Amino acid sequence: MNKYQEAMNSITSTFLYEEPVHFRKEHRNENLEYCETLDELVKKATPMKPNEETATSEFIDDHPITVMIYRCAKCGGRVHPFDGDLYCRHCGQALDWGDDQ
Ligand SMILES: [Zn+2]
Repeated sequence: MNKYQEAMNSITSTFLYEEPVHFRKEHRNENLEYCETLDELVKKATPMKPNEETATSEFIDDHPITVMIYRCAKCGGRVHPFDGDLYCRHCGQALDWGDDQ
C-alpha cells in the first residue's frame, strides 16, 4: 500500500463508516463522489505495468527488425522505458517498469 492509498483508506473509512456527528446524511452521496474522485487519483499514482507488444519497425537487407513497444495499461498510449518515463505522457498514469528497464 502506498501513502496515497493509505490516506484514501483512512478518509474513506472515516466518511463512510464511522459517520462523525457533524457528518450530515444529505452530504453522503456528495462525499461518496469525492471519494471516487480521490480513488481515481490513487489509482493513477499507483504504478501499473505497461503492456508489451512487438512490432516490425523496418527492414534491413530484407530482414525485418522486431522491436518491443510498450503501451500504457490505462489509456493504450505509447510509453518509452528508455526515455525514463515514470508517468504516461498521455494520461499521467504512474508506470511500473519492474526489472525490464
Ligand atoms: Zn496512459
